[in-house]
Amino acid sequence: AVLRSVLRTKVPLKVGCMCYSSSVPTTKLFIDGKFVESKTSAWLDIHNPATNEVIARVPKATHEEMLAAADSCSRAFRSWSETSILARQQVFLRYQQLIKDNIKELAKAITLEQGKTLADAEGDVFRGLQVVEHTCSITSLMLGETLPSITKDMDTYTYRLPLGVCAGITPFNFPAMIPLWMFPMAMVCGNTYLLKPSERVPTCAMLLAKMLQDAGAPDGTLNIIHGQHDAVNFICDHPAIKAISFVGSNQAGEYIYERGSKNGKRVQSNMGAKNHGVVMPDANKENTLNQLVGAAFGAAGQRCMALSTAILVGEARSWLPELVERAKALRVNAGDQAGADVGPLISPQAKERVCSLIQSGVDEGAKLLLDGRNVKVKGYERGNFVGPTIISNVTPEMKCYTEEIFGPVLVVLEADTLDDAISLVNRNIYGNGTAIFTTNGATARKYTHEVDVGQVGINVPIPVPLPMFSFTGSRGSFRGDMNFYGKQGIQFYTQIKTITSQWKAEDATLKSPAVTMPT
Ligand code: NAD
Repeated sequence: AVLRSVLRTKVPLKVGCMCYSSSVPTTKLFIDGKFVESKTSAWLDIHNPATNEVIARVPKATHEEMLAAADSCSRAFRSWSETSILARQQVFLRYQQLIKDNIKELAKAITLEQGKTLADAEGDVFRGLQVVEHTCSITSLMLGETLPSITKDMDTYTYRLPLGVCAGITPFNFPAMIPLWMFPMAMVCGNTYLLKPSERVPTCAMLLAKMLQDAGAPDGTLNIIHGQHDAVNFICDHPAIKAISFVGSNQAGEYIYERGSKNGKRVQSNMGAKNHGVVMPDANKENTLNQLVGAAFGAAGQRCMALSTAILVGEARSWLPELVERAKALRVNAGDQAGADVGPLISPQAKERVCSLIQSGVDEGAKLLLDGRNVKVKGYERGNFVGPTIISNVTPEMKCYTEEIFGPVLVVLEADTLDDAISLVNRNIYGNGTAIFTTNGATARKYTHEVDVGQVGINVPIPVPLPMFSFTGSRGSFRGDMNFYGKQGIQFYTQIKTITSQWKAEDATLKSPAVTMPT
């Protein structure tokens, strides 16, 4: 029933000048509290990545529809920002319970459109849910500061206040977690929100919107538009939008950062990555190899924190054959099939790109130890599958090293010493995440101090911080000043008003104007 309310099913459909009488459902817009069918003539197909069947269509919202969504956010801001913090908190307390109750339904919607395994899709929802749970402590998070008696009879205190309308643009790889990094934090602070989900996986965001409405969020506090460049440009340019959160590729993220900032908006852009796992010879071998394989190939490598590059230091070089054996044992299958470890890539184009990057490694002299390009998945012959792939003897100049592959491909480099490994990681343009595997505390400490990467794991392959901290990717992986969620998320979505007050006793009244700068 919830799905039916966010998708319109079994209707004849106009796409451009063609009329389809198929039963492909269409994704609605969410404007002013209503799930509405777009009047657009421009539609995009959504495919099941395991079969490449068209499973739904998503509209490119018209300019009028986008304006209606932004106007709805502006109107709702007046009352939502004045709604008590306790009342806003109640909405999110109910919301986190609704998400928890529907985790399996959300996961199914993710697997159908994105392809990841059902268990991994539940993890996607769960990591977003944790951010929603954290928003429920807004009564502490939004506290201002006070300093009494700053001078005689004078006190200074600050309020943390919402900005107005905020907007989010999200990628395909985490259909639940990344939208949930954005609108719950913004809204609990008193902002209203305009979301543009990835056009490739919009249904999960629509389900999340329905649940938020059911949790009591007033009409207009969250609006959802769909589309591509026009919708993104609309968000970058609309004067009512005060802040933009973006997660996705560098190409889009840098463009949005520039265009949004030029228009005077706050922008935070979380972008691409090349995360290195440094394997020291003293590491716990069993643990390390399993963690490396899980973090390189889980979600078919389509995670910004995937551990896509291994640096084997010294004797750890000899672990390569075992690494290959473990990777070989992973089961490639459609995400909704029991026992699947590695699902399909998002599109045939993504598969083609990943395969050509693998080939570039071969052409440039690297060694293909495990080749997943010709993997066959019974019953899913038309899916975008690539099996686990390991390329060794990779050097920093090779294209398979300089580019983010975003597929189930582990590139392996070697280093003689820890210093060499650190220098390699620091020369890479990205700074999203890294991990070191060691049993030596001093080695781990040296690595964390000297490596120039925003998120470091010690024997933790995917160190995505929990929401009481922030997601602190750095260098080429981030543009902006304030990171996502945690304290920095609250800072991003609020502004400070500072009040200085003086209540003098009657006998201290000024007898003449004070024309010098007050000190
Ligand atoms: P993408 O950049 O193609 O799309 C992200 C969003 O931007 C979508 O909503 C899309 O409609 C829009 N968009 C795409 N191209 C655009 C353009 N040229 N101009 C304006 N808007 C555009 O990214 P994706 O393929 O959906 O996601 C994968 C990328 O996201 C990877 O690079 C991955 O590392 C990155 N990512 C980063 C993080 C992080 O936190 N650092 C998290 C998840 C994903």
